[in-house]
Amino acid sequence: MRIEKCYFCSSPCYPGHGMTFVRNDSKQFRFCRSKCHRNFNKKRNPRKVAWTKAYRKTRGKEMAVDSTFDFEKRRNRPVKYDRDLMGKTILAMKRVETIKKAREERFFENRMSDAKAEKKKQARVEIEKSIELLAPAVANREQVMRNVIDSAKLRIAARKKSSGTRLTNTPSAAAAVGGDGMEE
Ligand SMILES: [Zn+2]
Repeated sequence: MRIEKCYFCSSPCYPGHGMTFVRNDSKQFRFCRSKCHRNFNKKRNPRKVAWTKAYRKTRGKEMAVDSTFDFEKRRNRPVKYDRDLMGKTILAMKRVETIKKAREERFFENRMSDAKAEKKKQARVEIEKSIELLAPAVANREQVMRNVIDSAKLRIAARKKSSGTRLTNTPSAAAAVGGDGMEE
């Protein structure tokens, strides 16, 4: 029994699922679902369709080169059953999986390291572009602020009543609200 990979989206194709297309030159194409098969029939290139693994890997959105991928290879020589080898293999699979996960996380963090600053920058540009849309919202801002402060005060009072242990949280919240109030 072998878990094949979908030709289009690279997700696993379990036995009895999806379909196989055998081309005239006997090359086999596995598809996990009709969505992938239909896209293949439309002669779409998986590297240009945003939801496939191939797309993500070519755009550097996912780890593409790593030594942990070498473990998952098509091996055509059958291995004779050996209890010790089987046990070792299963242990190794778990270990490889944890290493792979850690590396993927690291890759993601590296990729996202400057995403926050970039998002802020984009938001600033957006605000500058359409500042006139914000004018009506700013007009009744004082009312909104007052509402926010009132509700926050009520919440703080309720919390103080309910428990004295949580007091460590409230001063910072109160300070934040007070800071907002000072702006007016
Ligand atoms: Zn698929």
